[in-house]
Amino acid sequence: MPSVRPVIIAGNWKMYKTKSEAEELVNSILAAIAELGNLPCVVLCPPFTALETVVQLVQARGIEVGAQNIDYHDAGAYTGEISAPMLTHLGVKYVILGHSERRQYFGETNASVNLKLKASLKHHLVPIVCVGETVDEREAGLTDAVVSRQVAAALSDVSATELSSLIIAYEPVWAIGTGAVCEPVEANRVAQLIRGTINNLYHKKDFAEAVPILYGGSVKAATIEEQLAQSDIDGALVGGASLKAEEFVPLIQAGCKKVCLTVPKT
Ligand code: PEP
Repeated sequence: MPSVRPVIIAGNWKMYKTKSEAEELVNSILAAIAELGNLPCVVLCPPFTALETVVQLVQARGIEVGAQNIDYHDAGAYTGEISAPMLTHLGVKYVILGHSERRQYFGETNASVNLKLKASLKHHLVPIVCVGETVDEREAGLTDAVVSRQVAAALSDVSATELSSLIIAYEPVWAIGTGAVCEPVEANRVAQLIRGTINNLYHKKDFAEAVPILYGGSVKAATIEEQLAQSDIDGALVGGASLKAEEFVPLIQAGCKKVCLTVPKT
């Protein structure tokens, strides 16, 4: 029987929310979802300074917390950096890696994403690896080549069994924070390409089929249902719309609907 992949709704808060603003947002989300059944896996990714607060607020509520980056070293003289063990010690379970803003502004490369991916797996942090093409790459017909290369590079020296704790987010760069959305059928095609790339790397179809793939890029209430209706899109990585409870909660509700449809009937 094919595996049932989890439905995941992740919020990337980027460099927004002080500790008290984070508390307010989490409390509003928790109040709004208190009565919801069939919750998807909800992952909140605040800035480092709000991680501990958010972990404490959500820990009894089945919501997970992720960071937005790590350094790949365990510890050392790396001023300004944060390691995977520092995060797991706080109760953080996920980490976003290779976000296009980090690739664009902070010199993240496919090679550094790979090092961070291995560090996160070593310390049992679930990596959410972001891949996606720029507008120029799409217009030049390079989408598939760029995305496959990013996936293959991120997974270099990663064993097939480690794939069981991996999430990939397809985030076309031109759709992030722009209001432009990748057509759901096209996003699904790229998600299938990602699965095909994993299968080509490991020759294990079951493993590739089990990796959750999220779509990210201007996700909002009006578009998410069609995105989640796609066969290979298992959830969403959400930026702007994760910063307000009234915009994020409808996305969680859309996740609940997909959970209802994917839970095997007994
Ligand atoms: C993101 O930051 O990962 C993202 C997808 O942002 P937005 O939803 O604002 O496009």
